Order: sequence, then C-alpha cells, then structure tokens
Amino acid sequence: MPKIIPGTLYIVAAPSGAGKSSLVNALIARLPFVYLSISHTTRPMRPGEEDGEHYHFTTVEDFTARIEQAEFLEHAKVFDNYYGTSQTYVQQQLDAGHDVILEIDWQGGQQIRRLMPDAKSIFILPPSKDALQERLEKRQQDSAEVIARRMKDAVSEMSHYAEFDYLIINDDFYKALDEMSAIFVANRMTIEQQKDRYQNLLEQLLN
Ligand code: 5GP
Repeated sequence: MPKIIPGTLYIVAAPSGAGKSSLVNALIARLPFVYLSISHTTRPMRPGEEDGEHYHFTTVEDFTARIEQAEFLEHAKVFDNYYGTSQTYVQQQLDAGHDVILEIDWQGGQQIRRLMPDAKSIFILPPSKDALQERLEKRQQDSAEVIARRMKDAVSEMSHYAEFDYLIINDDFYKALDEMSAIFVANRMTIEQQKDRYQNLLEQLLN
C-alpha cells in the first residue's frame, strides 16, 4: 500500500471569462486526487450559483469577523467584493494526501506564494481578446457595464501571468484540459514524492 503523503497546493488564476471554472471542474471529475477549495465571498450570487457549491456566500460583517478570527489562508478585494480561502479546509485536504486547487486572483496568488513556497501555480489565458469578450457576453449573468469593467480588469489580471509556474492557453478545451492534467499527474510522479509514497516497496525491491 502506498503511504499517504501531503498533497500539493495549486493556485489557478485567469481573467474572468478565460474558462477557468469549466477547466477546473473537468479536471476534478477526471483526477480523483484533486479537490477544489470553495472560497467565501461577499459578492451577490449569480443566477445558477449555489451556496456552498460555487462559493460560501456571506455578508461583509461575517467576512470581517472571519478575518479577525484568522480563518483565512489568504483574502483579497476583487471587483469591489471580498474573497477568502479557508485555512482549515485546505490543510485537512493536504494532510489527507489530496492536491488542492485555489481558484484565486493574482493578489491571493502572491500571498500564497509567500506563505507556502512549495505551492505550484498555473495561469490560464484566452486565445484572443475577442474570445474573452465573447465569453463574458455569452454568460449573460452580468450587465453591460459590469462586462466592460471586467474587460478592463481582465487586462490588469493578465499582466501578472509571468509570476506563475505554468501557462495554459484555453483555445481547444480538451487540449487545455490534457495540458492541465499533465501538470498534476507529473508532479505526483517526482522522485521526491514517489520515494516517500512507496518507501516500503522500494525497501523490499532493493533488499
Ligand atoms: P468571480 O466573482 O467571477 O467568481 O471571481 C472574481 C475573481 O475573484 C476571480 O479572479 C477569482 O479567481 C477570484 N477569487 C475567487 N475566490 C477567491 C479567493 O478565495 N481569494 C482570492 N484572492 N481571489 C478569489
């Protein structure tokens, strides 16, 4: 039996409309050892979203209290709303040997990199600006004004791509999914991880 060794934390960032959530959801369905951290947010729920599934939706008061109780591994203000990552959930999953994905913005990425230098980070870009605009319009969940603001914010988010370890261009969805899976699978096969995971087997084989 392989030994359970702590999982790896992944930061996955992208501008709004790059298809990040669809990719992450498909990855989780494909790789049983990957778990998604559900953030807390003060932003209003969009149509089709569910509390506890897409986010833990909460009030500014509750969010502030959680900051004071040091519940968040990181938190940031994005598009006028607060977002934060639960420290307890992440730690429990990593201890159970699961890899954990944080779908966070570049500010959260910087905080996590400082706190957990072993975290890996992936940036997802759309194939063009037109594709980005089209995807934001297709969602029809936000007003034209919000979409225009998000296009501007997307450019500012994308300017941080070089701070990340891996870059994926989401043109063909399944190609991007394969590329993302490859990163997670390869990381679990490193000698550093495998020698701990298969310590017993290695001892048997070499004696
Ligand atoms: P949305 O409101 O469109 O779901 O997300 C807006 C932005 O907030 C995205 O860039 C998303 O990655 C980011 N975000 C979501 N959850 C968190 C979080 O817990 N921490 C940080 N720093 N950013 C987050």
